[in-house]
Amino acid sequence: MLIAMSWLLDLGCTGPLKEENVNGQRTLNKDDLRTSRMGTDRVRIPVQQGESALLATASVDAPNTIHVRSLTSPDGEEVFRSAEWNDSPYTKTNAGFIATTVTLNWPILASDIPLTEGTWTLELGVVDENTRFTASDYSLDVLFKEDADWTSGVLDVALIYTDGLDADADVMQAVQAAKEMWRDLYATAGIEIRTSEFAFDGEQLGPPAFDDEPAFIDISADTPISTINVVLSEWIEGYADVLGISGDIPGPLVPTARSAVQLGVRLAAGTDGTFDEEETRILAETMAHETAHYLGLFHPVEREGWDEYDVLEDTPECNNESQCITRLQSNLMFPFPVCPALRCVRQEELTDEQQAVLNRYTGVN
Ligand SMILES: [Zn+2]
Repeated sequence: MLIAMSWLLDLGCTGPLKEENVNGQRTLNKDDLRTSRMGTDRVRIPVQQGESALLATASVDAPNTIHVRSLTSPDGEEVFRSAEWNDSPYTKTNAGFIATTVTLNWPILASDIPLTEGTWTLELGVVDENTRFTASDYSLDVLFKEDADWTSGVLDVALIYTDGLDADADVMQAVQAAKEMWRDLYATAGIEIRTSEFAFDGEQLGPPAFDDEPAFIDISADTPISTINVVLSEWIEGYADVLGISGDIPGPLVPTARSAVQLGVRLAAGTDGTFDEEETRILAETMAHETAHYLGLFHPVEREGWDEYDVLEDTPECNNESQCITRLQSNLMFPFPVCPALRCVRQEELTDEQQAVLNRYTGVN
């Protein structure tokens, strides 16, 4: 009897996820997981020696929503607990907030408990449209990277032209110039950008942040798994005054309806419709800013109320617009371009802690 029980326990320890190697990257996944009647599920994640970061993406069908409740190390230490952040003015990740697709990268900060070999436990929770916990099917994908160097890495980016923009010579020229500026900007964080370019010939796309544009599933499935999809569109549908939008913070690497960054290049080109030098630089900064959201960075301060902040200790705090502009206007992650006179302020600075977050993202290898 004892032997049978220990055999059963061992069987349980293998974990329920299916292991696959996709383009040299170890992944675990299962698309028919189910939460208990209490609405939660705990999934064992076997981390192998040498693996330094993981990216877990969980999805449910609307109207249900899912979130990461906690992540526990092999020692039984709860290294992340979403409830801790519910009423906080600081934001560390969107993974703890309910959505139809959520993504957690771990570690996030240099001060986080590092990933170590052994069995980690990810706890997920699903709620219905009345935010009541509910039993629900859900899917989970976990990707790993092996990269012990937190000061440098390579990021693969696919630039995807939509709305026929690949036939617009002015846009193409501006994007090529902006790409080089973006490359220089990320080099200051030790990140080398490797780009590929595609044209998408489908209909106008909705933005990726709401998990309701299925075309991003197909676009993401057509590029290698570790690639960030930067989609160039004429405008961001429904957000004509927004330069760019990120699928999530951090964003997923597996194909989902959120697996893209989208930029509206007509707004970036200004009222005359052509890119001057400054507009090209702002396009570059927008590419860098939105992709940095995707890699896990929040604005150092949010413009609604000037009272919500990123969790980083080396991005200064401030309490009103003029103070925040004074202290943070040169930071890449400031919420908007600052153009006091004829020129806009260059927004290229990344603090040490911001650079540390970017280098911890599982897609930066
Ligand atoms: Zn932003």
